[in-house]
Amino acid sequence: MESTIDFYRNFNEETFDDVSCFLCGKNCDSKTAEHIFPKWLQHKYNLWDKKLTITNGTAIPYRNLTVPCCSECNNVHLSQMEDRFKVLLDKSFKELTFEDEKTIFQWTAKILYATRYKELSLLIDRANPNLGKVISPQELESYSSLHLFLQSIRFQTQFNEPKPWSIFIFPCKDEEFWYHNNIPALCLSMKFGKIAITIVYEENNLISDFMAPLKDLQKTELNFPQYLEANAHIFYSGMLKEKVPHYISSFNQNTKILIVDTVGTLNSRKWVDEEFASVLDFMLFSCGINIGSSVLQSDGLVTSFLVDENNEHLLKKHFRKKDSS
Ligand SMILES: [Zn+2]
Repeated sequence: MESTIDFYRNFNEETFDDVSCFLCGKNCDSKTAEHIFPKWLQHKYNLWDKKLTITNGTAIPYRNLTVPCCSECNNVHLSQMEDRFKVLLDKSFKELTFEDEKTIFQWTAKILYATRYKELSLLIDRANPNLGKVISPQELESYSSLHLFLQSIRFQTQFNEPKPWSIFIFPCKDEEFWYHNNIPALCLSMKFGKIAITIVYEENNLISDFMAPLKDLQKTELNFPQYLEANAHIFYSGMLKEKVPHYISSFNQNTKILIVDTVGTLNSRKWVDEEFASVLDFMLFSCGINIGSSVLQSDGLVTSFLVDENNEHLLKKHFRKKDSS
């Protein structure tokens, strides 16, 4: 791990603070601040005055969520990535190639990382500045692998197998925009109206296999509680990560190609239904969905919303144990 951090600090002459470009580390002025949630997205879903709750519980309007960004990163690299992402969104993320997945990964990881970067400049408590900032530069270094991956926005990058992410796409019934994340588990989900992406990072594509049955849901339009339940499965899988792989990179100065390799494997704790139930309970609660009790039933089964109009479980063939019907 040390070598990764050393490399990437030398690589960018990185300084983690609130006046350096969040992506390349170059000193920059705030005139070229980058919107963490891009302006086109805020227009499309009318997010400007809506608020995002950050890690210390403060709610900040989306329009104020910006990070320092140099003009080259902003106007060249990020702008091209946004264009690629919009094309994928316009076709509802159908038939994704590896390069498409890389774009989705870059676009979402930028949001997760930049939100944490923003927190470098935000006080934990504005009434009590002595408490310091929401995140320290030392804490931000724990995102060094994610930041390394984000360099793929600036440089042609070869991610050697296995790819360090798992992506799930869910068609949804309603038109609402929705965003939530689980920062310690490094996962997030964004619902662009009738299509949603859920992604987990730094798990070498294992959650994609572990949660493969959820891919069956790509054929069904999910209602909101169903979408949340699918996310609870994925987020909880991310929370089970105990030992994450390490990533090493090399940069060829001649070809300007960055190569990312993985070392080690992912270890995870065992799945515990009671814990999963509390994750789902929390998600439902935080979205104002009240079912009157915990999803954990007295017999130990977990209530599932993933049933069709005939009360048949949508994942019956895979998840019989959790089938509530
Ligand atoms: Zn930059």
